[in-house]
Amino acid sequence: MDEFARIEGYFAPLTAASALGLRDDAALMEDGALVVTKDCMVAGVHFIGDEDPALIARKLLRVNLSDLAAMGASPTQYMLGLIAPRDTPSAWFADFTRGLAEDQALFNITLLGGDTTATPGPLCLSLTAFGKTHGRVLRREGARVGDAIYATGSIGDAALGLAMLRGELPADASLVARYHLPEPRLHVAQHLHGIATSCMDISDGLLQDMGHIARLNHVAAVIEAEALPLSPTARALLGQDISLLERIVSGGDDYELLFTAPQDAADAMARLRIQSGVAITRIGHVVEGEGVTLVDTEGMEIPVARKGYRHF
Ligand code: ADP
Ligand code: MG
Repeated sequence: MDEFARIEGYFAPLTAASALGLRDDAALMEDGALVVTKDCMVAGVHFIGDEDPALIARKLLRVNLSDLAAMGASPTQYMLGLIAPRDTPSAWFADFTRGLAEDQALFNITLLGGDTTATPGPLCLSLTAFGKTHGRVLRREGARVGDAIYATGSIGDAALGLAMLRGELPADASLVARYHLPEPRLHVAQHLHGIATSCMDISDGLLQDMGHIARLNHVAAVIEAEALPLSPTARALLGQDISLLERIVSGGDDYELLFTAPQDAADAMARLRIQSGVAITRIGHVVEGEGVTLVDTEGMEIPVARKGYRHF
């Protein structure tokens, strides 16, 4: 049973309507005035462990902010769960909270409470973030046949950055930074209400995450490899080694928005691109059928063995 089957089989039956079937990036509270999301990070799984604690803290907060962005909500408050090895020094906490303070100021969010315990195991972090919605949320549900598929920013940088940290590729500071410090696309998301037909954030790989939207809406997605927004470094690396394409489309940790919009929204997207200063790229389209296909310029399928990250 994979992670998704477990969520659907064991946890979804415990929920009420406001949890949106556990099929979205966050759940609703207060009749949709608020949304709430939780993401956990474990040393050795989501980060290496010996990073600057301030960076770990900021990533923890930002991956949650990215889920708020996916819902089109604005951050308000968060709760922190910290399960730390007993011998964690005070200096670690000082650095960790310095990172939180920095991003609290950047994203206009404050700490509401939490829990701190010691563990014989690795450092585990949990953060629950609340956001306000002004009554409108973006959902994964709603993509229609004929819609265009868009992604913000660039895809694959973080996955390549992680490969660099593991010594599998020559290091490039900008890509490593993209792994350590995702950029939640809150400002873009707030302008997608009424335009995007579905929206989520990419955390576990573009193809796998697109698969969630496709399955939920009983449609298929065609992603054009040539259209993918790549950073100059990612493009150069791909030019040297085409096999890196798989890491780019399935590596995860992008924390970019992935959304669908009708074909006639192209002008609105061009305006939003200028207004936000964030790249918004049409990467494919929605068709009848099921699944996600990566295609080349001739429309031929590019086989991808692994479409995303799976915990189980
Ligand atoms: P994301 O990558 O956007 O954070 P996840 O894949 O982690 O989303 O989770 C998908 C959905 O499943 C979300 O709605 C989340 O709240 C829910 N979920 C995941 N794990 C649990 C759990 N242990 N209990 C209840 N809900 C869960
Ligand atoms: Mg998400």
